[in-house]
Amino acid sequence: DISKLERIDETCWRIPATGKMRVPVLIYADEALIRDMDDKVAEQAGNVASLPGIVGACYVMPDAHWGYGFPIGGVAAFDPDEGGVISAGGVGFDISCGVRTLTTGLKREELEPLKKSLAEALFIHIPAGVGSKGSISLNDAEMNAMLKGGAAWAVERGYGREADLERIEEHGCMAGADPAQVSKKARERQRREMGTLGSGNHYLEVQVVEQIFNPDVARVFGLEAEEVVVTIHCGSRGLGHQIGSEYLKLMQKAAKEAGIELPDRELACAPIRSPVGQRYLGAMRAGINCALANRQIITHLVRQVFAEFFPDHDLKLIYDVSHNTCKEEEHEVGGRRRRVFVHRKGATRAFGPGHPALPEVFRPVGQPVIIGGSMGTGSYILVGTTESERHSLSSACHGAGRCLSRRQATKTWKGQQVIAELERQGIIVRSPSMRGVAEEAPQAYKPVDAVVRAADKAGLARLVARLRPLVCIKG
Ligand code: 5GP
Ligand code: MN
Ligand code: MN
Repeated sequence: DISKLERIDETCWRIPATGKMRVPVLIYADEALIRDMDDKVAEQAGNVASLPGIVGACYVMPDAHWGYGFPIGGVAAFDPDEGGVISAGGVGFDISCGVRTLTTGLKREELEPLKKSLAEALFIHIPAGVGSKGSISLNDAEMNAMLKGGAAWAVERGYGREADLERIEEHGCMAGADPAQVSKKARERQRREMGTLGSGNHYLEVQVVEQIFNPDVARVFGLEAEEVVVTIHCGSRGLGHQIGSEYLKLMQKAAKEAGIELPDRELACAPIRSPVGQRYLGAMRAGINCALANRQIITHLVRQVFAEFFPDHDLKLIYDVSHNTCKEEEHEVGGRRRRVFVHRKGATRAFGPGHPALPEVFRPVGQPVIIGGSMGTGSYILVGTTESERHSLSSACHGAGRCLSRRQATKTWKGQQVIAELERQGIIVRSPSMRGVAEEAPQAYKPVDAVVRAADKAGLARLVARLRPLVCIKG
């Protein structure tokens, strides 16, 4: 209901703090996106705004849609000095789900004749689908090393190379992971799932750089018009999901014990400075490492496949960004700098130029912000800005965002029909699940062009390049 929103400017809308809300809600979107956003987003963001210790505002990205407790596309930071909380639902069940993009040095016309056989080879070599298993099996000691080491662990084991690590958030290894807080069941679920895409929205896509908006930044990122790139989207698989489910229950109890009044059961949370809060942090950070290792292993598999087709081309990692995390960061909120715990659920970190957490190469321009669209429409690469610190605690959208539920999508389309239509457009889709393909039909997502334009206009991040899909391996 748009009448309840105060319009701040073209792309910023505010819900003032009323009732139990401790801070306002700020939604970034243009008018058309706001009109189409489900009402549940504002309601959920209002609930988040009432949680203890929240600072600044509850920020909502232009791709937002309804989620479990927190909206997807929601950003919220909590101050431990003010009784701030951490929430499993605020991170999301696929802990550290994220995307990485690699350059190939290939031009589109070099790839075009081999597109179909490349799609086939990628589909054969990168395990995809529900419960898909890889060829790697981890014993307990290796599992612990992986949960501590993330992508750095993977590189030590021969998956990829040292140079990849600085091209990953946290330099490939999330500090503060505590494998002891990851249950036996979570480990069991993960034992054979390293190096697998998983199902549904996860994908491995070969794309072409269709348009460049900012040549200077594109150069720093290594992007050239008409060049082929590869993007990998997946997360922490069964392990992350198991951590999320287990801690959700623990947090329901912890919230009650701490006397926190939950506006919605799904917002279960624990004070950051509580045993459950600390245990979750340790487990979630281990989950982040699992996701980073997973994307690193998949990268290695993708390089092997490409080497068969193009032996003298090297796949270089641009950057790896996560969009389901809670990170301890320093931000200026309420006129002073403080250390806060920033939940980004279906939202990407978007540090601007000069940020000390960025690798040297990105310091002059800001970090790459990788945004999926759909397997039919296109995707984007943006760059972080200085002003996003003020607007959204240095966060931006992570995708186009769903506009139709999975159920609505399967009622509307058949997988085969979606694949045939995309093939007519020159996009080869391979997937183990026709139902999955129908659920992921391009029209089930919001118009990605409008979403990123709103993000750019609001200053959350700036447009750098648009990518068009050529091959999509869908989980
Ligand atoms: P999520 O992490 O929320 O599941 O998905 C992130 C975003 O990826 C979605 O909002 C959607 O815009 C985008 N996306 C989903 N499927 C595909 C795909 O097959 N290809 C591309 N390029 N983007 C996709
Ligand atoms: Mn994701
Ligand atoms: Mn995911």
